[in-house]
Amino acid sequence: MSIPAPIRADADLSTLNTLGVPARAAWFAEPTNLDALADSLAWADRASLPVLLLGGGSNIVFAADWPGLVLRPALAGRELIGTDKDFFHVRVAAGENWHETVRWTLEQGWPGLENLALIPGVVGAGPIQNIGAYGLELADRIEAVEVFDRDSGEVRSLTHSECRFAYRDSVFKHEGRGLVVLSVTLALPRAWQPNARYRDLAEALDQKGITDPSALDIFAAVVEVRQRKLPDPARTGNVGSFFKNPIVDEPAYAALKANEPDLVAYPQPDGRFKLAAGWLIDRAGWKGRKMGAAGVHANQALVLVNLGGARGAEILALARSIQADIETRYGITLETEPILIE
Ligand SMILES: Cc1cc2nc3c(=O)[nH]c(=O)nc-3n(C[C@H](O)[C@H](O)[C@H](O)COP(=O)(O)OP(=O)(O)OC[C@H]3O[C@@H](n4cnc5c(N)ncnc54)[C@H](O)[C@@H]3O)c2cc1C
Repeated sequence: MSIPAPIRADADLSTLNTLGVPARAAWFAEPTNLDALADSLAWADRASLPVLLLGGGSNIVFAADWPGLVLRPALAGRELIGTDKDFFHVRVAAGENWHETVRWTLEQGWPGLENLALIPGVVGAGPIQNIGAYGLELADRIEAVEVFDRDSGEVRSLTHSECRFAYRDSVFKHEGRGLVVLSVTLALPRAWQPNARYRDLAEALDQKGITDPSALDIFAAVVEVRQRKLPDPARTGNVGSFFKNPIVDEPAYAALKANEPDLVAYPQPDGRFKLAAGWLIDRAGWKGRKMGAAGVHANQALVLVNLGGARGAEILALARSIQADIETRYGITLETEPILIE
C-alpha cells in the first residue's frame, strides 16, 4: 500500500504540545488541502490505524505515544462571505491561528471576538470544547461549522444547533469524533455592544480610566490580564485550565457554602451553580505544590505546569491526586478539561 505524500513515519510531538511533554506519533501528516486530508484519512482507514486530530496541542496531554496517524489540518484562509443588516459573516479555515484571527477581524472592523483574545491554538479546535473566556463563548459567535465526515467521506455543514454547544462541550467531543473541522463560519454583530462585566476585565479597563471601551480596548485589556495571570506556554509548559468548573444543584451548593462561607460560585440560568474549581483546589492547599516535575501553578491553582522535563504521566498523576483530594474533601468530582492520551 503506497503512503500518500504528506504522511511521514515516527514524528516527534514534544514541540507540538504546549505542555512540552515527550511523545511520538507512529505516522504524521499536515495536509494543506482537502484532497490531501481525505487521502491521508483513507490511507489510515485502509491500514486500520487510529487517527488523532491535532491543532496547536494546547488542550491535549500526551501520557503515551500515538500508535496511529496524527493529522494536523493545515488549511489556510479567512474571508468575508457576506454581510446583512445584523452581521458580518466570516469564514475561517481550520488551520488558522486563533489569536491572529481575532486580531484580524478587529483590524477589518468586525468586532465580537475580542474577549477570546490570546487563547492558544487553531481555529479548527475552537468548536471542539467551545472555547470561552471573560464572559464569552465561541458558540455566541458561531453560525456553522464545515466538516469532513469520515464515515461518508463527504464535506457537510453543521448548523449551530447541530453542534450542540455547552460549557466546554460540543457534539465533536461525543458522537462527532469522526468529524474533521475544515472551517468555521462566524456571525459578528454589526450592533456590537461591549461585554466587559467580567471582574478582571472590568478592573483592567477601570485602571486605564476607560468607561466606554471599544472592541480594541477590550482586546488589549484581555491580552494584558491574560499575560499577567496565566503562564506563557513558550516558557512554562501548560494546557491552561486543567479542570472544568463543576456545576452543582442548589442543595449541594448550599451544603458546601455552609462549610465554606467564602466559596466562589456563579449562579446559572437553570438554577444550578458553577463552582470555581481553582478556588476549591487552592482552598485544599494545592497551589504551588509539586509532584516530581509536575506542579500546580503558584498563582493559578487551576493550571498544572511542567516544571522542566515532566512526562505526561507525571502531570496526570498530579491531576489524579488533586481529583481524589477534592472528591474526599467536598464530594465534588473534578472533570479534566484537556483531552488525555494514555
Ligand atoms: C495558556 C493557555 C490558556 C488557555 N486558555 C483557554 C481559555 O481561556 N478558554 C478555553 O476555552 N481554552 C483555553 N485553553 C485551552 C486551549 O487553548 C483551547 O482549547 C484551544 O481551542 C485548543 O486549540 P489547539 O489548536 O491547541 O487544539 P489541540 O489541543 O491540538 O486539540 C484539542 C482538541 O481538538 C481536536 N481537534 C483539533 N483540530 C481539529 C479539527 N480540525 N477537527 C476536529 N477536531 C480537532 C483535537 O483532536 C483535540 O481533541 C488555554 C490553553 C493554554 C495553554
